[in-house]
Amino acid sequence: MNKYTTRATIEGTSFFDTFISVNKEGKKRLGIRFYRWLSVILIHVVFILSYWVDLQVLEGTLSGSRFLGFHLIDPFMTLQVFAAHHQIPINLAIGTITIVIVYLLIGGRAYCSWVCPYTILGEISEKWHQTLVHKKIIKERFFDYKIKYIFWSIFLVLAFFTGFLVFETFNIVGILSRALIYGYSLALLFVVAVFLMDIFFSQRAWCRYVCPVGTTYSFIGWPSATKVVWDDRCDHCRVCSDVCLVPHVLEITKKNANVENKKTVSIISGDCTLCGRCIEVCHTDALNYETKLKKLI
Ligand code: SF4
Ligand code: SF4
Repeated sequence: MNKYTTRATIEGTSFFDTFISVNKEGKKRLGIRFYRWLSVILIHVVFILSYWVDLQVLEGTLSGSRFLGFHLIDPFMTLQVFAAHHQIPINLAIGTITIVIVYLLIGGRAYCSWVCPYTILGEISEKWHQTLVHKKIIKERFFDYKIKYIFWSIFLVLAFFTGFLVFETFNIVGILSRALIYGYSLALLFVVAVFLMDIFFSQRAWCRYVCPVGTTYSFIGWPSATKVVWDDRCDHCRVCSDVCLVPHVLEITKKNANVENKKTVSIISGDCTLCGRCIEVCHTDALNYETKLKKLI
């Protein structure tokens, strides 16, 4: 895909075009999206090999695992355990702190686009959703993204009053992760239901409005060292918002956005998943990754 000659909206671009991008000199290279998919697939291949051939590198699932012996725990899982049992076992605390530190460095919701297996299904669903909308078979439906805070609270309150990790029954990350590593289970039917909701009801509805795992990572993302940064080469075409999972974070690209004559602005919202899709479609190169990691090192 050549972003300099194409307005690369989801609906107007072929699904696989965006795995390859073309730079200003016209040279083809693998796109950020290719590396994201590769990251998701490789993580799960290592999980699978660790279980099936005893590789012992990455054991468990995305909800709770051990990487070379170090515990890694999904922070929302830990919050649920605390709500349900009013204590956090030491291994859970260590695993959660490790994860929080990692994502403070690389960007909180980077988990959603570089690790979570549903991201691949989500991108397939949004392509089909946009095609159906274009053919006027279904309607676009948008909701207030802040609904996700209500779901986040509900699942913690449920854990508190029931003593069970209620969300884990619906956690499509855990269900998919377990299915890929240990094999099929009936719980996959819920993932299918979410996939169909995303296609026929509202684009990326689960990730945008429901998933408390992503919401928890967004709290980590807000102060993180890695961001997407916008600069004033932008001509406000808004193609970036079309491809973005969380378009509210790109309000800065609106013509009337209040940027106080700044030349560059970091996207400070923790909702940004650092997927890089906006960078890959911006024909003025006004969006780029920026990280303070180099300074920290
Ligand atoms: S940053 Fe500006 S120029 Fe680039 S895709 Fe977004 S709106 Fe268009
Ligand atoms: S702002 Fe860009 S990097 Fe962040 S979620 Fe949206 S498309 Fe992805």
